[in-house]
Amino acid sequence: MNVVTILKQKGDQVTTVTSSSSLLDAARKLATKRIGAVVVSDGDGRVHGILSERDIVRAIAQGGHDALSAPVSDLMTRDVTTCSPTASLDEVMHKMTNGRFRHVPVVDGDGRLTGIISIGDAVKHQIGEITMEAEAMREYIARH
Ligand code: AMP
Repeated sequence: MNVVTILKQKGDQVTTVTSSSSLLDAARKLATKRIGAVVVSDGDGRVHGILSERDIVRAIAQGGHDALSAPVSDLMTRDVTTCSPTASLDEVMHKMTNGRFRHVPVVDGDGRLTGIISIGDAVKHQIGEITMEAEAMREYIARH
């Protein structure tokens, strides 16, 4: 299973914010869309950063509610690990495990954002694969 297959099922829409948006705007997007991270893109289709709920929690813990008026650019992670649409599910899961994050934006050969894979998407599809393999093995055993 690769990233394209997952995106075909879940869709390629990505929730983004601009780097000058406030943390409050980003938090409101996370809440309305029921997601854990937004990609920071300034309308050029490129990934400038990523901001997750953890970044917002950390900012509030350090600066109280005043932190919510800070721009996203102050808190976002700039060094974003991405994957290509042809990456395998295993490859994406390794990136998440090694980097200790739960979101990987998908970018095409021109560096343009074409989707995002969350740990939830990855686990859902891996469980699907394991279930199909188990079913195939059960059928094989029943026939032989
Ligand atoms: P998450 O587990 O996605 O909530 O993110 C945990 C931390 O990793 C936060 O500081 C995020 O900004 C950062 N982060 C999330 N995704 C990525 C990524 N793909 N590459 C680099 N950092 C990330």
